[in-house]
Amino acid sequence: SIEVRDLTMAYGELQVLKGVDLTVRPGSVTCIIGPSGSGKSTLLRCLNRLVEPKGGTLLLDGDNILAMKPEKLRRRVGMVFQHFNLFPDHTALENVMLSPTKIKGLPRAEAERIAMARLADVGLASRQHHRPGSLSGGQQQRVAIARALAMEPEVILFDEVTSALDPELVKGVLNLMADLGTRGMTMVVVTHEMGFARRVADQVVFMDEGRVVEAGPPDVIFDNPQSPRLRRFLAEVL
Ligand code: ATP
Ligand code: MG
Repeated sequence: SIEVRDLTMAYGELQVLKGVDLTVRPGSVTCIIGPSGSGKSTLLRCLNRLVEPKGGTLLLDGDNILAMKPEKLRRRVGMVFQHFNLFPDHTALENVMLSPTKIKGLPRAEAERIAMARLADVGLASRQHHRPGSLSGGQQQRVAIARALAMEPEVILFDEVTSALDPELVKGVLNLMADLGTRGMTMVVVTHEMGFARRVADQVVFMDEGRVVEAGPPDVIFDNPQSPRLRRFLAEVL
């Protein structure tokens, strides 16, 4: 589980998170929606300490995230980015093996076994020897998801992972993520895909101007929004 209480964060003078509260239950899918600049990516980045919060409480299964070594934290919290961030000179298999060998210190044979299994999970066993440049965007993103899974994290954070994909490739990645959710992976998903949020999320969180304005199950958020700000946002995006 993740518990966030009164999280604040600033880039210099710019106050970006102004007291965010969030609870993510084990095995649940939380989708974070909201306008550009509302602080969604910054919230995710605080959760695995790619940026340092200014204040607040962050707990991962009861452990204080802010007191953990970043390397240790990143074993437990995986992240998938909009632009894949794969190593271009490594094959798909090597990309997936890297963290298990380098960060977990697993022997190569063991890491390779795990990496092959995760590539199979995302439907890319046959592409193991391809470099990112010879894979489609959707395949590259699935490799990035396999790489996150290979660390057996407690939670995976996804930041607009389909936004850079050609439209015809989006569905495959979203279906894979929906599958992971069904299989009990705890996921926090920043997305503009309202259909995905409605269909897959256990909880939808609407952020605006550095705050959580409204959070609830998808049917309430989408069909019965309480705040005028969320109603306006939905009118724009739906
Ligand atoms: P989007 O939907 O466009 O990805 P977002 O909700 O993810 O937006 P953030 O990226 O968290 O928003 O940005 C929140 C605010 O912080 C914005 O005003 C942004 O300009 C600012 N910001 C983000 N990253 C930095 C940075 N590295 N340095 C300074 N300001 C930043
Ligand atoms: Mg963002």
